Amino acid sequence: MISPAMSRLLPKFSIIRSIEEMREFRAGCHNTGLAFVPTMGSLHEGHLSLVKLAKRHSARVMVSIFVNPLQFGPSEDFATYPREVEQDLERLAPLGVDAVFLPEARTLFPKGKTSETSVKVQGLSQELCGVSRPQFFEGVTTILSIFFNIINPNLVVLGEKDLQQLRCVEQMVKELYYPIKILSAPILRCDDGLALSSRNQYLTQEERELAPFLFQILQKTAKAVRSGERDFVQLSETAIKALTGQGFRPDYFEIRDRESLLAPKEKDADVAILVAAWLGRTRLIDNIQVEL
Ligand code: AMP
Repeated sequence: MISPAMSRLLPKFSIIRSIEEMREFRAGCHNTGLAFVPTMGSLHEGHLSLVKLAKRHSARVMVSIFVNPLQFGPSEDFATYPREVEQDLERLAPLGVDAVFLPEARTLFPKGKTSETSVKVQGLSQELCGVSRPQFFEGVTTILSIFFNIINPNLVVLGEKDLQQLRCVEQMVKELYYPIKILSAPILRCDDGLALSSRNQYLTQEERELAPFLFQILQKTAKAVRSGERDFVQLSETAIKALTGQGFRPDYFEIRDRESLLAPKEKDADVAILVAAWLGRTRLIDNIQVEL
């Protein structure tokens, strides 16, 4: 997996594969605490910005790379999800992380592909992305619950790119009383506005050229909301029509309360505008938060 030449280039952090090693590493951080950045690898600048944020808040930082089977549905892209561990380790090397956790699925799930115990945030996990991906958030909160128990971080950094995931994890941490602070990092974008994502590499050249339209329609809707438009149903319908007209297949386009991600209760509550749309065989998600 990691060539000897590569290993020589990577003296800067520990690579941890077993739960025992992980617990030992954590015990060595008892004076400093530990910040944790969970990822599925194929790292881009968005992921690296989380690591940099973690470094600003913690003397010790650990990154995990694990393509989590629990969060993929049977017809989704688990098998083809990009895996490039060597390059990921190279990308992390200059950032001063202390350890990278690289567990194998069989280490975490010795009985098979999944665990029989799960953690589910009722309600929110079935909204928005949860409609077309009913297993997704339960898969995320279950794996993070497992990681939190193994790693015992006091700080976890997550990206606002996956806003619904962030809110589910915040709720899990609060309701299960994990002694963990969650820090969120803003969405990093390409120059043309497309949010960085490991899945962008699935896009054909033509689709890649079209993809920034997703952010443009979010911006246009945010501008309308900022200038006083409050017919959120109408705004969403207009956005869906515009996306469809450009060749997207939207799963949803919704304006929700920024904190609960449910329908806004007050007229001028801060909102998040969230979208998920297919472009060819790639499902893109994005969002904008609007303070009113
Ligand atoms: P993933 O590897 O896709 O599971 O993402 C790992 C973490 O990186 C999650 O907390 C994501 O929200 C975050 N992330 C992914 N893309 C971006 C981005 N473009 N900007 C900021 N954070 C991101």
